[in-house]
Formats: sequence, C-alpha cells, structure tokens
Amino acid sequence: MLQTAMRFSHTLLKEVILTGDTVVDATMGNGHDTAFLAQLVGLNGLVYAFDVQEQALQNTDKRLVETGLREQVRLFHQGHETIATAIPEETSLRAAIFNLGYLPKSDKQIITKPDTTEQALDALLARLESKGRIVLVVYYGHTGGEAELAMVQDYCQKLPQEIYSVLTYQFINQKNNPPILFCIERK
Ligand code: SAH
Repeated sequence: MLQTAMRFSHTLLKEVILTGDTVVDATMGNGHDTAFLAQLVGLNGLVYAFDVQEQALQNTDKRLVETGLREQVRLFHQGHETIATAIPEETSLRAAIFNLGYLPKSDKQIITKPDTTEQALDALLARLESKGRIVLVVYYGHTGGEAELAMVQDYCQKLPQEIYSVLTYQFINQKNNPPILFCIERK
C-alpha cells in the first residue's frame, strides 16, 4: 500500500539517519517525531526539538521519559525561527522534520507561519550535511495554511539544483486536503 505522507516522512528520515547523528524536530507537538528521531540517533546522537506551546514540551518530555529516550534530546520552548541562535553554526545536521499547521486536538489558533518557517529553513540549510534531508509535512486545510504551502512550494522550487534535490509527495485524488510532503536533500 502507498504510504501516507506522515509514514513516508519517517521512511525518508530513516534512510539517512545513523546513530550518533544530530537532527532537528522543528515542530515537536506531542513528540511523536521527536521520539522517532531520538530512537534513530541513539544515546550518542542529539535531537534538538522546538515548540512554542508549553503543553507540547510537557507531553514530549513525558513520552521521552517513558520510552527511555530523554537523554539524547534537547527541548526548546521557543519557535524554530530561533534555530540560528539555538544550534551552533558549526553543528552539522543530518536531518530535520517539520509538521506544518496546528496541533490536532489542541488550540487551532496556534499555527506555524510562512515567515518563521522560512527563517528556520534558512538556518537548517546552512547546517545541513551532504546527503542530509529536510522533510516538511504541510497541512494546509486551515485558515492561513494555503499561504504557508505557497511559501514552501516557492522556497523549494527556487533551490539550486546543483546543490539540492527536492521532492514532493502528494495524494492528488483525496478529499479534505491531505498533507503534502516536501523533501530537500543536499547533494
Ligand atoms: N510532530 C508533532 C505535530 C506537530 S503539529 C507530533 O508528532 O505530535 C505543529 C506544532 O508546531 C504545534 O505543536 C505548534 O505549537 C508548533 N508551532 C507553531 N509555531 C511554531 C514555531 N514558530 N516554532 C516551533 N513550533 C511551532
């Protein structure tokens, strides 16, 4: 069966992440991706995870402690637009994941936004290793979602092909705006 965008995001990450790597969860939420990344990098690796909601940090912390993955994760209660200062410039990153939109079953007013997402992408690309990947799963059915999707699409299309390969993955015959996945790989 074809993988959902969410599942495919994990496939794309798993293909490149090795134990000991440093990676980023730009939108922690309830910490599903943070835990997935923490498992892949192992105790010698490092996951930087960001969210603007206190509840996200609490839920993620709990999940990590319960699964024995807390040690290799640094949780930041701040937006991913601060990545440039939160992660040292000389740190090279193997991968990053974004889930753009709002946190399901939570405050639907708290959404990711084009400007801050773009700032985060700039900072991540500056630190991305060769063969490293940035995966974005873009939910766009809510108010403001289309503008963010347009920014991501435009940003990705403008990346020079000599340096990056960019993929989109999308079910084009499904109702209710299923998420669209983008993957940027540094050559
Ligand atoms: N991957 C998560 C789901 C993330 S939903 C999971 O597995 O549960 C998107 C998240 O982005 C929300 O939790 C929201 O609070 C967060 N968010 C919104 N603006 C943000 C910003 N500027 N920086 C980081 N996170 C942000």
